[in-house]
Amino acid sequence: MLIKKFGIAALSAIVATAIQAHPLESDRNESHNLPLYVLAGSLMAQADTKVISVSDKPKAPQAALPFQKFTPHVQTRFNENFLYVESNSMPDHPMMVGITAWQQQVPLPQPYTGDNAWRIPLHPVVAKNPLSAKSNFFRGAIALAANGVPIFNPIKNDGRTDTFLAGELDEYGGHSGRGDDYHYHIAPLHLQETLGQALPVAYALDGYPIYGLEEPDGSRVESLDRFNGHIGPDGGYHYHSTKTYPYINGGFHGEVVQKDGQVDPQPRAKGVRPATRPLRGAKIIGWNQPDSQSYSVEYTLGRRSHFVNYTLLPEGGARFEFVDDKGQVTTETYDGKSARGSGGGGNRENRERPPRGDRDRPRAESEERSPRGPDPNDPNRQPWIKVHAKEMDTNEDGTLTREELVAEVEKTLAGYDANNDGAIQAKEYQGRGGSRSALGGFVKQHSQELDQNGDTTITKDELLAVPLRMFQKADANNDRKATAEEFAQMRSPQTKKGREDRTGPPKQ
Ligand SMILES: [Zn+2]
Ligand SMILES: [Zn+2]
Repeated sequence: MLIKKFGIAALSAIVATAIQAHPLESDRNESHNLPLYVLAGSLMAQADTKVISVSDKPKAPQAALPFQKFTPHVQTRFNENFLYVESNSMPDHPMMVGITAWQQQVPLPQPYTGDNAWRIPLHPVVAKNPLSAKSNFFRGAIALAANGVPIFNPIKNDGRTDTFLAGELDEYGGHSGRGDDYHYHIAPLHLQETLGQALPVAYALDGYPIYGLEEPDGSRVESLDRFNGHIGPDGGYHYHSTKTYPYINGGFHGEVVQKDGQVDPQPRAKGVRPATRPLRGAKIIGWNQPDSQSYSVEYTLGRRSHFVNYTLLPEGGARFEFVDDKGQVTTETYDGKSARGSGGGGNRENRERPPRGDRDRPRAESEERSPRGPDPNDPNRQPWIKVHAKEMDTNEDGTLTREELVAEVEKTLAGYDANNDGAIQAKEYQGRGGSRSALGGFVKQHSQELDQNGDTTITKDELLAVPLRMFQKADANNDRKATAEEFAQMRSPQTKKGREDRTGPPKQ
């Protein structure tokens, strides 16, 4: 019964995220504005049928002003309900310099155009139940900077880590995500050099502006609410930037739709290579742009310089050149379509230490192995859920609840889901992804089992199926809590030829 309920909820989440983006040809000819608007509007499932073309010369909404300061890099268009902002999220300042906790990603231009543009509500509505970013929105952007660079929650998807304090951000408050997508995590106050203080530095995705440290008229900011906002001198609600948490909007005063842990809808980043690993000890010290299509990131490791040089390819991929401290060069090319390859240069440190030696094999080899995982006849083999129950018991009360398990699944999904489409594609689970979580290594080792329909994509439903079945088995009295005693009672699966972890849709 409970499983059935959950299955439906998970399914609807998948349906909601299954809308595929079909980027339009990047033809900005004015006569093409109409279809562009209509498509964007219908994709967002809004009733914004009234379309205003540029030739009508209506007054641009006020929300467009800060973004227009960054044309032609940033393009805006609008209809009755929304301002649409297009950019490639590559700001015109140096990137990555100053990062001391680096995951080896670099900035690549993103296709935030056409129906994959950013969307700012022009008529924000005060939320009945305002949602805090302390416990929500760990995926995706919560605001958009005036220069077209998205701003993500300052807290990472583990719900704890402050990216700024953790050394993950460059001197402009940004870094690249798993899709090599550059974004900020704190207020982009440097944009005030271009904007002045009378214009907001960003817009939150609920439609309210985010100003700098002062009021637009230069006066001191008084009494902010828990989201860094208040009714300003002009009588309207707005947020402010702060130099400490929450830095930007600490949640949404206005209405937004939350789906799979992020504001929905929102554009998707497109990665060209598998996720890379953290490189412990690396410090990024240099950023160079030898020409309009080439970039170079210099980092030190043990005081010696290494470089990641890369050139954008005309078809959308990139060619990477990893230069180590001895001048040795390794190259990798990604065509931007298959996103295949080993990904990431440099050292492969911090490799997750699996409990069993036979799991730690090179990827190509493990892919060819049977999907059954470790030797089923190993008498020491324990059910996965039993081994990891303590890690997943987030409130540390000694019992694992169904909610805690589902939270773990969602965290793992977010960790692997580089392109933010709510599912894990082969290139994502082959990358490092969320392997730090209890479920992370399991995903990699059991990807074929988890992917029930064999389409090389693990949906949230598929990711949930096996852990939920194990949970059912552990939770002998069916009270949605698995206690230490219940885990102790759990049989080791070796007597059943190791097959009981095999998947199948939850019994309905
Ligand atoms: Zn980030
Ligand atoms: Zn104010």
